[in-house]
Amino acid sequence: MTDTKRLLIVHAHPDDESSQSAGTMARYVDEGAQVTLVTCTLGEMGEILVPEWQNFSPSELGQHRIGELEQAMTVLGVTDHVWLGGAGAYHDSGMTRDEQGNVVPEQERPEGAFWDADLLEAANHLVEVIRDRRPHVVSTYDPNGNYGHPDHIQAHRVTMYAVALAGAPAHRPDLGDPWQVPRVLWSTNNAKLWEQAYYVARDRGLNVFGDLSEEDVKRLGPQDVTIAAVVPYGENLSKATQALLSYRSQVSEDADFWQFFQIMRELEGSGEAYLYVAGIPFPPSDAPADDLFAGLDLG
Ligand SMILES: [Zn+2]
Repeated sequence: MTDTKRLLIVHAHPDDESSQSAGTMARYVDEGAQVTLVTCTLGEMGEILVPEWQNFSPSELGQHRIGELEQAMTVLGVTDHVWLGGAGAYHDSGMTRDEQGNVVPEQERPEGAFWDADLLEAANHLVEVIRDRRPHVVSTYDPNGNYGHPDHIQAHRVTMYAVALAGAPAHRPDLGDPWQVPRVLWSTNNAKLWEQAYYVARDRGLNVFGDLSEEDVKRLGPQDVTIAAVVPYGENLSKATQALLSYRSQVSEDADFWQFFQIMRELEGSGEAYLYVAGIPFPPSDAPADDLFAGLDLG
């Protein structure tokens, strides 16, 4: 079939796809689209929330998270999942915070940390996937990795580099026929939803961010961004919730932030937001598009 929509999403760690792209993946799987998820690391440095698993070594946690991701993929109906360079090729870099509270790379990083990866080598792994799957739409993080996590920033760099290289006929013909990705998007937070969810959470007695002034609340989400598309959760909200709950080592339903996150997902009109970055723009409209493929020729 030549008119099948083809989507490729790149994330840094297992569970990132379920917190940021679950509604999108479930929707396009339902539509019969080709949906590919690429995950760059096993998430070995994730904070373990289940007491019995606290003594997992990073590599044990990584192996455990492979199973959690498989469970999430089953919930979302995604059958095409790729570990960048093979499972465990890149190690979760971990993260810390500087004196201002900004997320920064750890000084001492694990061997093979994704942050220290050879960019060309990492991009070439993705070039091979892009040339094979020929996606119409590729989505990844923004240049700051959405909140500064080094592995998210690196996933952004690798994806943007790979998209450029995949379209260049002279680049590594052995990795497949060139494919120019028609549209590139960055997933982003939906600032309006953060603001609305803050007040709903406060009314329910949840104190996730402390007492904030109205101005501060407005600054919770990303500023001055133009959201090009929002894929509504719609009927896929429960799948998105179940997918995230597949990550028992990482997610606790009792956590305040989980509850805040659920409030945000359940708000009227809630969905996964995207910025338009490169390729063919969305058709002009006063409102964000509700289809990532709007205006694309799928031939
Ligand atoms: Zn992550």
